[in-house]
Amino acid sequence: MNEQLYKIVLPTPFAVGDVNVFVIKGQTVTLIDAGIKTEAAWSVFKEKLNEIGLKPDDIKQVVLTHHHPDHVGMLDFFDKDIAIVGHAKNQPWISQNPNFFEWYDAFFEDHFMKAGVDERFRPYLKRLKASMKYSCHRSLTTSVQEGDYIPGLESWKVLEVPGHAQSHIALYNERTAVMIGGDLLLKHISSNPLIEPPMKPSGERPKTLLQYNHSLRRLLDLEINCIYTGHGDEVLHVRQLVQERLQKQSDRADKVLSMIKERPQTAFDICKQLFPTIYEKELGLTLSETIGQLDFLEDANKISTHEKESKLIYSVCS
Ligand SMILES: [Zn+2]
Repeated sequence: MNEQLYKIVLPTPFAVGDVNVFVIKGQTVTLIDAGIKTEAAWSVFKEKLNEIGLKPDDIKQVVLTHHHPDHVGMLDFFDKDIAIVGHAKNQPWISQNPNFFEWYDAFFEDHFMKAGVDERFRPYLKRLKASMKYSCHRSLTTSVQEGDYIPGLESWKVLEVPGHAQSHIALYNERTAVMIGGDLLLKHISSNPLIEPPMKPSGERPKTLLQYNHSLRRLLDLEINCIYTGHGDEVLHVRQLVQERLQKQSDRADKVLSMIKERPQTAFDICKQLFPTIYEKELGLTLSETIGQLDFLEDANKISTHEKESKLIYSVCS
């Protein structure tokens, strides 16, 4: 089956800059990821589609690499009957399920308290989900999981690659050794292991950096000529970049370990030292990154935690 793949670059108002979406013309017309919900993105999208001889109505299905607003928002501009395919964990986010977001608020309130975040950052809790206004109110029509092949897109295998998002999948074409990777591995910036609430209130917080490292390592076992990414250029030297990212993470963990050796402290204390110039502005991202390093060190039995006045204190294992 002859397939054609087109990359379309769309603007976003986010710090990350443009987002890439992909059109695959094969047995059917599939869109991989759906940009952000702004008029600007939709109008560039229609213009670029037109250049390849298509209209939004020609798209029969949208496959989501993950649930972040810059990858799903434009779904709201599509016809009600379009097929929406992705991992089941997209659902509460893309439908903006009120029960889930009630739980989300409670989770982050508790999370900030345990991390020892200063009371003055309380207003930040509300800002955490401000980007949801660029997301959509839609529902999956089909959920997929590891090893699945999506109808109309049979040359691409679904791989579950959580870490940056719990819902994250990649599409891998074994014949051509090409991957559509979403935000799994980006060429110019490292992907953030964003903290998310567990799917259910009774569940445990996912250890996102550990998941992310595992997902990255999976790439080392595959033959890959090219990864089309969610932001920026394609990655051609996959093995080298994966090694670099893992090395950088392990170096950062060493730095965190030396801070904890000096004195036991909270995640927020460490976050301020790791990211002194940006933590105030980007508390969500920098705290996720910090907690990731702490999870990593805890998993390696180098540090442990105890609770003091509702805060988690990290200290070195004796
Ligand atoms: Zn993302």
